Amino acid sequence: MKSLNHLGVIFFPAYDWAISPTHPEREERLLYTQDQLREEGVFDLANITEYKPDIATYADIERTHFCFPGPEVVTTESHLVAAGGAIKAARLVMEKEVDKAFALVRPPGHHAMKVVHGNRGFCNINNEAILVEFLREHYGIQKIAIVDTDCHHGDGTQDIYWHDPDVLFISLHQDGRTLYPGTGFSDELGGPTARGRTINIPLPPYTADEGFLYVIDNLVLPILDDFKPELIINSAGQDNHYGDPITNMNFSAQGYAVLNRKLNPDIAVLEGGYSIHGALPYINLGIVLAMAGLDFSHVREPDYHPESLRQSPQISEYIKKLCALTMQNYRKPPPLNVKPNQYDTRSRSIYYDTDGINDLQVEQIMVCPSCSGVRHLTSKTRSHASCMGIEIPIDACPRCRDEGYRLLHAGRSNFRGKTIKFINRRDKEYLTLNEFELTPMGRYFF
Ligand SMILES: [Zn+2]
Ligand SMILES: [Zn+2]
Repeated sequence: MKSLNHLGVIFFPAYDWAISPTHPEREERLLYTQDQLREEGVFDLANITEYKPDIATYADIERTHFCFPGPEVVTTESHLVAAGGAIKAARLVMEKEVDKAFALVRPPGHHAMKVVHGNRGFCNINNEAILVEFLREHYGIQKIAIVDTDCHHGDGTQDIYWHDPDVLFISLHQDGRTLYPGTGFSDELGGPTARGRTINIPLPPYTADEGFLYVIDNLVLPILDDFKPELIINSAGQDNHYGDPITNMNFSAQGYAVLNRKLNPDIAVLEGGYSIHGALPYINLGIVLAMAGLDFSHVREPDYHPESLRQSPQISEYIKKLCALTMQNYRKPPPLNVKPNQYDTRSRSIYYDTDGINDLQVEQIMVCPSCSGVRHLTSKTRSHASCMGIEIPIDACPRCRDEGYRLLHAGRSNFRGKTIKFINRRDKEYLTLNEFELTPMGRYFF
């Protein structure tokens, strides 16, 4: 018998917020979950306590993202409360008020990348990344693993931690050749200073419980065992469910609960899941019970017929090979052709499907042998003039710190764009320079 955990549940359904009235990420998403948790009497149990969310500050967001033109433009109050729910989960666990915490919040966040111009994939700001940076800022946590079990590739979280060797990002998702956002392939392994710290497991459509749990047992748990994070965070997306209307997987509420028990995360943060009546109440209840160390074997969807959800032998075989390849990539990632002490450049076009924004981005990372490297990017959309972001990482060596300030001073003098955002995680200095402060001559006045 597993021992009980004290579980904190932070519930923020945002009943008055939606992208549009008929959008799948809508107001009622957590309505039936709330009923189910109440009906089951989970809040009457001595080891489960409901907490109110914090409200994330703009400082919490700007520590994590480059928001152009600023966080006040790209977020609503609901986004601040959802991210604040994740922060509350972190605080409860770190202050040892609870053993584990589950932030059942919306709107979701895992498609929000380092740069934010608006909403993409139903997300504006990345709740888990804001949580991670809060933990680093206030509790000095260094090594963290984020395991994303949403059906969609967690491309936003991947982008934020692409260059960070201390945050292991593992995403299990439906193969990007068959689902939004079309990324998350096995060869996406992290940037030159964090190679092998991004792990993608693109699963074929109709993967069932057996396949997901095989990946957890044979790949995810051994990798976590090797990486030894101080904390495990689960981006808990419930849209791998067989009843989900926008995906093609065959995962069940029982499967999700078993996955959670095996993964044993310290904190879970809700991501997607759009079968609001038939799946979300059962998956979320199963996860709550699993995290609390309680029996969940009775949690069943009314239409659950396991025999109709069996995956084919071909899928099992494919997943077995995929796990072997991914383990090899984690242990010995194929090297990148980059030179030390020079910038490595990524040029990308990032589409914001919800807001119809196209961002042309050029990102440079200093391939530093001593730290994760200063990050420098320019971002250009049709409606915004060009913007610049500079980030000195939390583990910056003195040389990369100086390089970050050199880039800032050069930007002040020469940059013809609209906004410069400067993040210095090492010394906790954060600056925004707007076009008003950049004269046509490019001189900055204090
Ligand atoms: Zn999703
Ligand atoms: Zn460095």
